[in-house]
Amino acid sequence: MNNRRIFLSLSKQSGFEQKYIQKALDDNWITSGGPNVNDFEEVLENYLDAESYVTALNSGTSAIHLALVLLGVKTGDEVICQSLTFSASANPILYQGAIPVFVDSELETWNICPEQLEIAICDRIKKGKKPKAIIAVHLYGSPYKADEIHAIAERYEIPVIEDSAEALGSSYKGKKCGTFGAFGILSFNGNKIITTSGGGGLVSKSTQLKEKSIFYATQSKDKAVHYQHSEIGYNYRMSNICAGVGLGQMKVLDKNIDYRREINHFYKEIFKDIKEIKLFQTANKDFFSNYWLSTILVKEYENINRESLRLALENANIECRPIWKPMHLQPVFSGYPYYGGNVAEELFKKGLCLPSGSSLTKEEKERIKEVIHIFFNNYNS
Ligand SMILES: *Cc1c(COP(=O)(O)O)cnc(C)c1O
Repeated sequence: MNNRRIFLSLSKQSGFEQKYIQKALDDNWITSGGPNVNDFEEVLENYLDAESYVTALNSGTSAIHLALVLLGVKTGDEVICQSLTFSASANPILYQGAIPVFVDSELETWNICPEQLEIAICDRIKKGKKPKAIIAVHLYGSPYKADEIHAIAERYEIPVIEDSAEALGSSYKGKKCGTFGAFGILSFNGNKIITTSGGGGLVSKSTQLKEKSIFYATQSKDKAVHYQHSEIGYNYRMSNICAGVGLGQMKVLDKNIDYRREINHFYKEIFKDIKEIKLFQTANKDFFSNYWLSTILVKEYENINRESLRLALENANIECRPIWKPMHLQPVFSGYPYYGGNVAEELFKKGLCLPSGSSLTKEEKERIKEVIHIFFNNYNS
């Protein structure tokens, strides 16, 4: 059997990328911003909905940072953040000198828990500081409980930054992820559902906010002939070459989503008779996931656990990763407030992400299936 490494989440080329990259070269527009960037933004805006404006940036992390800047988050302010996520959701809070307040997940979507969110808000207010923003995440493409979370946010008048880095194409009650919050953020990193080789998007609700975000992303240049600055700026704009890759990728976004959902179904079949494994699937039709990554929970039983399964796959050169380690357990964020129990912690202990890439081949799927079957037959016999 061929033993080439199977990666967790490789992208797939559409074949149209070259055309747009060539256009950037032909236009001699090899810098940040430009015609491809404008076109890429327009394609994304049409994909999301009529009321959303997209600013193309050099990463999803920059998008979160600019959302905090636009919301006026400053030194000493508090920002609530889902604990179970990638560190990029929380790092920009620290870039602003603000204080992250982490909140646990619930078991249905694995995302920020409405009850714990409200407890956290009330307690922070009681302690004298109302949080300036809430960062909620659609983890692995699974939409968070948008109705509940946004009702709470509205009741306390706290804007939501919707981290949709993993959820382009996912939706809740038919509305696309990335369009619920005061700001939404997208990522086009190499491992996401589409890639620009590296890039991100800030989704906002007005042309004024879009213009202001471009202003900050291009070094906050005031209107003047000379270089004049009255605010701190950033170099966060997407390059015209990267946007070319993005334009090519947008042509296969829906195909990628179909394929990743098919992979989820493939795992469902593999695990249907294995009682130690619970494949994560969305709760009901309100939640539509792009299944960016398929994830499972491994119930400990004799020698079976998350780590023994991961190692069996790793020994066959198949990459799997534990679920994100919660932020409140990270050394760099220790000492910041945390609200909740051990839901996120248990998901981290038992959870495993399985190969889900858009270019996963039939042969690779067979290899994965075989390793899993051998692993469980060994243990069950
Ligand atoms: C990837 C990711 C980001 C950051 O995106 P980059 O484009 O890599 O900076 C933020 N949040 C989550 C949940 C992510 O998975």
